[in-house]
Amino acid sequence: MILRVALDVPLPKLFDYRAEDATRADIGYRVLVPFGTKRLVGLVVELAAGSDIPAKRLRSAEKILREVPPLGRAWLDLVKFCSGYYQRPLGEVVGAALPPRLRSVRPFAEAPRDFALAPAGREVLATLPARQRRMRALLARLSQGPASESELAAQTRGARRLIKRCIEEGWIAPVVPECPVPGFVRAYDLTTEQEEALHKLRRGLERFGVSLLFGVTGSGKTEIYLQLIAEVLARGKQALILVPEIALTPTLEAAFRYRFPGAGIVTQTSASPELERAHGWVLAHRGRAHIVLGTRLAVFASLPDLGLIVVDEEQDISFKQREGVRYSARDLAIARAQIAGVPVVLCSATPSLESFHRASSGKYELISLTRRAIHEAVMPAIRLIDTRVHPVHEGLATPLREAIATRLARGEQSLVFLNRRGYAPTLACPACGWVKGCTRCSAHMVVHSADRSLRCHHCGLAERVPRVCPECGNPDLQAFGRGTQRVELSLRDLFPQAQVLRLDSDAVRARSRIDDLLERAAQADILVGTQILAKGHHFERLTLVGVLNADSGIFSSDYRASERSFAQLQQVAGRAGRASLPGEVLIQTRYPGHPLYQALVRHDYPGFANSVLAERREAGFPPFVFEAVLRAESSDAMRAMRFLREAIEAAPRQRSEISLFDPAPMSLARVAGVERAQTLLQSRSRPRLQAFLSEWSETLYRLPAQGVRWHLDVDPIEF
Ligand code: ADP
Ligand code: ZN
Ligand code: ZN
Repeated sequence: MILRVALDVPLPKLFDYRAEDATRADIGYRVLVPFGTKRLVGLVVELAAGSDIPAKRLRSAEKILREVPPLGRAWLDLVKFCSGYYQRPLGEVVGAALPPRLRSVRPFAEAPRDFALAPAGREVLATLPARQRRMRALLARLSQGPASESELAAQTRGARRLIKRCIEEGWIAPVVPECPVPGFVRAYDLTTEQEEALHKLRRGLERFGVSLLFGVTGSGKTEIYLQLIAEVLARGKQALILVPEIALTPTLEAAFRYRFPGAGIVTQTSASPELERAHGWVLAHRGRAHIVLGTRLAVFASLPDLGLIVVDEEQDISFKQREGVRYSARDLAIARAQIAGVPVVLCSATPSLESFHRASSGKYELISLTRRAIHEAVMPAIRLIDTRVHPVHEGLATPLREAIATRLARGEQSLVFLNRRGYAPTLACPACGWVKGCTRCSAHMVVHSADRSLRCHHCGLAERVPRVCPECGNPDLQAFGRGTQRVELSLRDLFPQAQVLRLDSDAVRARSRIDDLLERAAQADILVGTQILAKGHHFERLTLVGVLNADSGIFSSDYRASERSFAQLQQVAGRAGRASLPGEVLIQTRYPGHPLYQALVRHDYPGFANSVLAERREAGFPPFVFEAVLRAESSDAMRAMRFLREAIEAAPRQRSEISLFDPAPMSLARVAGVERAQTLLQSRSRPRLQAFLSEWSETLYRLPAQGVRWHLDVDPIEF
């Protein structure tokens, strides 16, 4: 028999291997095979009677890895869909989908099992001659209760061999862990709105369907999906929950453990230790875990009894993988739900325009929540501070300073939000106009105050701040603009009596434990931070949010910038006044009349979304067209552009309903010494775009690369 194996190599095909003893039942198993001079772990995808490879060149598979049960049909359909839709070889998708430990050639042993004494063993123990000292010791230990192999090995020499013999003789047996029926802690009585939403969702539990759970921050969306999950578990099914941030998973996991006592809960994120991730993955794959909770990569968890998928904060761009297989976990979640015939619930206070559009046009079920769940909590009042009228000192306009002072006097907490970490975004020489750029990227370097360094936020390059201008020798170099570190210092100066704490990814990195930092954050008087503060955390005393550089989001060349900006502002505004204290949000802007701010003040996401959607329809942008880009990367910009021109030259002639644009450098053209250019494709028809891409992609693999790396990005979010 011939195994057709998916291998994680950049070639769009399966690889044939001989395997004498293989049967169709081996489809879905991992397999160890020789590849060139290396050995690789791949996945058996098909079985064939013959191969096109000449017999003498056909190699044999080393071993079919049958310890872990084979991946099921639905899982294989998911990776095949992903491979087809995102135009990526199946082997690469499988490589991205399996946890690293399961595609390593190092043997994988499942979590050690416990052993227990069988009745036959008890009898033997009574009659075993005294000179069989070690066997007696082992059985005697087990007569007191189950023990793990490592525990037995610590106590008795040669335990492994003895255990093997005992199993063969039927004296001991591995303990099959009991799968307890998970409980559910009902923490609240649902509000009428929540009750109605849950009712609608429950009705759809046995079939495929997409629901958009659209509710203002604090409306209790989480509570609704927790109850829905409880229902799914009660029906003996598994649930998959996708969340955007790694940082949030520990808090969420703790909440899940508390709410679902006895449930098998597995987290899957790129931060999980390799072995732990593999063990969790196998547990879910064996149907022993009830809930899988994770970031985008968790969309590939194997769940044989899948009953529900939830995508929380579905608009978040972290669901889109930006290298390798460039999938959107949200979109794959929908495809997966369809394959499995189960519902998927997308949750958001500010849905992506794609999802909002589909929900408004009836493709998804729209479930809206308009009020906060906690009785007294009202939506925060949002005020715009016109910085042309109220000048800014040290980044803060007078009304914001006064508002912070009032909070301090009342013992309440303030949050100053700006989306820029570091001390200042540019270092420049006022004498000659020199600006410090990164030598490897087309970007400025950012001044960091803690160690007086310059850092590139794109490639990580770090340097010391120079003493003088390298162009003219001027010693008076100036830091322009304002990042979180600079605002932190200003706030300390302004409010010397206050406890000021900065929360951004630098602070998180410096103190590796996020929970530790969050604990300190709860105590602080003033928090300064970036978007990592915007999500999910509840601070009881927080009643004021000030936003500093909001305008940077509204005049970007990226058509998605305003959508993201609105989402982020609403999210950060939602931090204010979550409990019984009313919240206030002050946004500093030079353009208070801008429709985005006007909609924000009215808490009118639908109004904002509909007006942006109208513009997008007019201009021919997603979700009214579908997009893909062909991207080329090279150390030489000319080569990248030449490759793209040749690719367009070689593109299929049949181009009805496809627009293929001229190649252009990306907006950030150079990153870490790599020049990046791309060519955009648009189509009103997704199937036509797909067909075009498949055909084109075959040609692309045959083009001479000449120092260029290329990839297709379907539904891209970077330009
Ligand atoms: P969302 O996910 O919509 O932002 P959450 O589910 O996090 O909202 O709920 C916001 C807050 O309201 C949480 O502190 C939650 O514990 C609380 N909450 C949710 N539902 C209820 C309810 N029915 N009664 C009282 N409090 C609730
Ligand atoms: Zn100079
Ligand atoms: Zn750089």
